Amino acid sequence: MRVCGQCGETFDRPAWECPRCLHEPTRLDGHLAFAPELAERSEGFEAQYFAPLAELEAANFWFRSRNRLLVWALRRYFPGAKNFLEIGCGTGFVLSGMREAFPGLTLSGSEIFTAGLGFAAGRLPGVELFQMDARRIPLRDEFDVIGAFDVLEHIKEDEEVLSQMYEATRGGGGILVTVPHHPFLWSRVDEYARHIRRYRARELKEKAGRAGFGVLRVTSFVSLLLPLLLASRLKQRRPGEDFDASSELKVGPLLNAALERVMDAERLMIRGGVSFPLGGSLLLVARKE
Ligand SMILES: [Zn+2]
Repeated sequence: MRVCGQCGETFDRPAWECPRCLHEPTRLDGHLAFAPELAERSEGFEAQYFAPLAELEAANFWFRSRNRLLVWALRRYFPGAKNFLEIGCGTGFVLSGMREAFPGLTLSGSEIFTAGLGFAAGRLPGVELFQMDARRIPLRDEFDVIGAFDVLEHIKEDEEVLSQMYEATRGGGGILVTVPHHPFLWSRVDEYARHIRRYRARELKEKAGRAGFGVLRVTSFVSLLLPLLLASRLKQRRPGEDFDASSELKVGPLLNAALERVMDAERLMIRGGVSFPLGGSLLLVARKE
């Protein structure tokens, strides 16, 4: 079902024109835009981050491993899913991984900045991409699964986003969410990335629960590499140390391959039922009953 952005009417038909007030969402760069007033404002994430990010993701162990973990989680917890929305799809790297793993899955992606949608559109022909404020999702009972991967920590009203995700999910479906784990790991990397918070596991579970979801699984990941991550973040806290926020992601090819192997081993453990209490990131899987 669709929700009119102007009068709040819900309606079920292919056109976006509201049957009550005739309001129709505008288009920006060819994409439906539900919150055009926010499309270029750079609060939370700078649009110019997208270009270097797209290049980095494809080769980097962290992004590649996160994709594999998400593909596994979708297959394990929502095997019957027919459609999937990713909120904050950025350059489209996760959606392209999902498309490769699930050719029959209908994919949609949203982003607050149209700059990201341009990248994603080039990579994902046929995928429906739209500009949207995650705090006001214009759809109800629409998606089998909704994902938000390292998005909630950028948004002050994270609970509002979870509630909106709940409304937009079909009964029996659910959500996949990743966020940075542990407030004590807060560093300049978080500041540079414009994070508002890092999460405790209990906090994320409680927030998902308050939105209406039943939590199926919570595990940390980037757990086996936590000592390395800690060393790197502590080094950045030293005064006078040159700061490069992306240095952790720009590792040489040999080290990158080694780190990816460690992440592979960790994923095998997660698949085997291990839920890690400590790690750089947190995965939450929750269901709408
Ligand atoms: Zn209306």
